[in-house]
Amino acid sequence: MISDNLESVRDRISRASLKAGRRADEVKLVAVSKKVDADSVRSAAAAGVRNFGENYIQEARAKIEMLPDTLCWHMIGHLQMNKIKYVPRLFHYVHSVDRQELVDGLEKLGKPLRLLFEVNLSGEPQKHGTTVDGLKRMLENVGSLTSVKPVGLMTMAPYTDKPEDVRSVFADLRKLLGQVNRQFSLEMTELSMGMSSDFEVAIEEGATMVRIGTALFGERS
Ligand SMILES: *Cc1c(COP(=O)(O)O)cnc(C)c1O
Repeated sequence: MISDNLESVRDRISRASLKAGRRADEVKLVAVSKKVDADSVRSAAAAGVRNFGENYIQEARAKIEMLPDTLCWHMIGHLQMNKIKYVPRLFHYVHSVDRQELVDGLEKLGKPLRLLFEVNLSGEPQKHGTTVDGLKRMLENVGSLTSVKPVGLMTMAPYTDKPEDVRSVFADLRKLLGQVNRQFSLEMTELSMGMSSDFEVAIEEGATMVRIGTALFGERS
């Protein structure tokens, strides 16, 4: 049952927050509903989940339109330029900003989207996300943005069944946020990091948004 899974996830978020001396309400649960049907999203919403994450525009278009517009939607998947025109109508946040072309394209749409820059800190070539240098090049130009608003950083750690192994990835993202805020005089606050297999460690390292799919909705087919 989704409500049981939710209770367990919320409990784990609370315990990880407490352990880190943080308040549980500093951590936003983003329920990742890719490949999950609209009825399951409705059940999660009825149980109190407000934030949902989707990876694919086509799937999101079909699903989001069937659901109440009180929910807050996060685009967390790789975005192609020919799909970005759909983004403002569907989403409030984009976590997967990984290149200047995408920043420029989203800005041109003229809507107040909140952006998180996806950084590939593990160097795995199959992962999306920009390098630290690529991030800094994009941040040099954010002063001219008037529609979209940069609010933070996102990363995906390598998959692991030993979350301790990826703690340093999360710590590195937190340090990077502080560093680029100072360097570019920004006040970004969001750290989107942690998934079903590693969210407790991510919370201990400062996550403000955890993106959780499997632990809420079960294994995806
Ligand atoms: C699928 C996905 C998640 C959720 O993964 P789970 O392991 O199911 O919790 C989180 N973030 C991104 C970017 C994803 O693609």
